[in-house]
Amino acid sequence: MTESTTVDLFVEETHSSGFSMKYKIKTVLYSEQSKFQHVSVVDTVGHGKMLLNDGLVMVTERDEFVYHDMIAHVPLFTHPNPKNVLIIGGGDGGTAREVLRHKSVETCTMVEIDEKVVEASRLHIPQTSCELDNPRLNLLIEDGVHFLKNTNEKFDVILVDSTEPFGPATPLFNIDFYRDVFNSLTENGIVVSQGESCFYESESQNSLLKILHETFPVVSVYNYSNLTYPGGLWSFTFASKGLSPVKDFDEDRILKSDLKFQYYNKDIHRSAFCLPQFMQNSVKEYLKG
Ligand code: SAM
Repeated sequence: MTESTTVDLFVEETHSSGFSMKYKIKTVLYSEQSKFQHVSVVDTVGHGKMLLNDGLVMVTERDEFVYHDMIAHVPLFTHPNPKNVLIIGGGDGGTAREVLRHKSVETCTMVEIDEKVVEASRLHIPQTSCELDNPRLNLLIEDGVHFLKNTNEKFDVILVDSTEPFGPATPLFNIDFYRDVFNSLTENGIVVSQGESCFYESESQNSLLKILHETFPVVSVYNYSNLTYPGGLWSFTFASKGLSPVKDFDEDRILKSDLKFQYYNKDIHRSAFCLPQFMQNSVKEYLKG
């Protein structure tokens, strides 16, 4: 008599700090090699559908609400009247979904370099890709660096929803790119960027903050905590031509918007900028305004 043995399937994200995060999966839904990275979507046992680029977790259905609430609503409720928004990266569509909930936003341009990320998300993660056909969304498959260098458009808010500083995202972490960002922002403009981990990536976090310090009059950084990024506590950098994310935050705008959230609220908006002491010590020389 033959015994049937079930083999458990896992995806594993290995980190340079000598640990890995393993997720039990039911099945692989998408697996393609693009010009830029390997793109996959798996159906996990405990975190819903999961998008991975080169084996790194990008989004999961279970915790994507945290990242997408915090990248979008902190700048969009700091800016007094955001009409024209640019997203660099963001191929899963979650950031665009949150931006388009703001009635003041007339146009959101999303510049994602890898069409396979968009394809995988459209096919298998409707939770984040549900607004990719919104008439107010202008989706371009292009290098965000090239787009910014050549556009004459001006944006009220720019969101850099990119992968970490390697591969196609490398130039998104250098000063030439942020000079182009500065020149593409309106006079009240704000830029928020994926700001890495204060625990594991403080070097790249500080080098990004140093670039912002040299380019913008207001520089800050704020934190959120999710389930699937290494260490849990991750950051967004905030830079603007004048607006402060806390002093210029009018919490009544949240009430008037009638929007409901799963992670973001007025207290989280303010407290996200309260940094643990080790992180304050590390970043304080770059913060201003
Ligand atoms: N939330 C994720 C995180 O924090 O890592 C990022 C989400 S999204 C999937 C990141 C996207 O940035 C990827 O789809 C990647 O293809 C895109 N990207 C990387 N470099 C880019 C570039 N130079 N221009 C446009 N998109 C880029």
